[in-house]
Parts: sequence; structure tokens; C-alpha cells
Amino acid sequence: MALKSDKQQNQYTVLECPECGEQYIVSPRGNLPSEAATLFSDGFFIENDDSNWRTPLIIGCVTCELGFMPQAGKVIAKGSLYELLEKYPGIKKATPPTAGALVLDLRARTKISESEEIAIRRELWYAALHTEKGRALLQCNKKFVAFFHQNLMRLINRVSDTLLQAEIYRQTGAFDQCLDLLQNDSETMAKQIGQQANAKNSMVFQIE
Ligand SMILES: [Zn+2]
Repeated sequence: MALKSDKQQNQYTVLECPECGEQYIVSPRGNLPSEAATLFSDGFFIENDDSNWRTPLIIGCVTCELGFMPQAGKVIAKGSLYELLEKYPGIKKATPPTAGALVLDLRARTKISESEEIAIRRELWYAALHTEKGRALLQCNKKFVAFFHQNLMRLINRVSDTLLQAEIYRQTGAFDQCLDLLQNDSETMAKQIGQQANAKNSMVFQIE
């Protein structure tokens, strides 16, 4: 049994966009960083190995330009990375929509579930801080900066994870509220976020 579940855990998935049928390959780790990943204070991470990549909370579809939640994608195939790349040559890795597309997505969706809203708002936060296009928008587009801050304020009221809430407080300069939330937390990440809050640093940083 253990072997079987190990095998299932190593299976990559081919997902189809529910709107247009474009196909994407998703890594078996999903949203969990591996031991080797570079982790940031906001929970974003980068895998340093080509066979592994972060599954975004919402996948950006390059064909229909909409995003879809991985759980909403139709499962087309499962298998090893090698098998799937042989069978689906040129298949794209699932990546998040761009910061600009996420803003449009938030504005365009009238009916949205709480989990969808959290997914879009978290990916927007990450796209703004961890992509070149996002950082450029933060540097030169005042409307985007306002939207980005409003997005963080909405996100903090919707997520239940204390670390994420503390990090949003820190990034928005509310250092006391950040430290209050982390009082009883001695985990590495909480300690480092607390240290930066004490130093009144609001920038995203890499967890050591
Ligand atoms: Zn699509």
C-alpha cells in the first residue's frame, strides 16, 4: 500500500482549461514547497529543480486569457513527467495569470466563491512582488499600487492563516499588529517575520 501511495504522489497531471480546452501539466507537489525550495516571507516559493514547480492557486490560461482553479480543470491524464511529456509534446507548465490579468479577473467576476477570491487575491499579491511585470506596475502605476494595497486589506480579512495575516500586517507597515499575532509562535518563519517587524522592515524577504 505504501508503495502505491508513493507512486500516486509522484504522478503529474494534465489538466484542461474548462473554458477553452487548453492543456497544462501540474506537478504532484501542488502548493507545498519541497525542502530544496527558496521560500519567501509571504509563502511564495520557487523550486530549484526543473521537474518540480509551484502549482498556482489559480492557473492562467494563455489561450482564453482567463484563469481557472486547478480543481476546476478537467483531468485528462496522470503519469510520470517523462510519460506525459512524450504523450503531450509541447505541453505548458501550469503558471499563474499575470498581475494585470488578475486585476481584470477580480473586477470581471461577479459571482465568486470565498476560496476563489482568496486564490486570486493571493496570486495577485505574489505576481506583484515576485514577477518583473508586477514589480514594474508597483513602481510606476499609482492605480495599481492603490489596488494592490486594497487587495491586501481584503485578503487579510479572508485568510485564516496567522502567519499570512502577520506578514500582510508587516508589509503594510502595521508592525505592532504583526508582532501581536506572532507572540506565541516560535517557528522559524514566524521568528524571522517578527525580527523584520521589529526592525520596521516592510519588504518581502527570503526565509533563511
Ligand atoms: Zn482557457
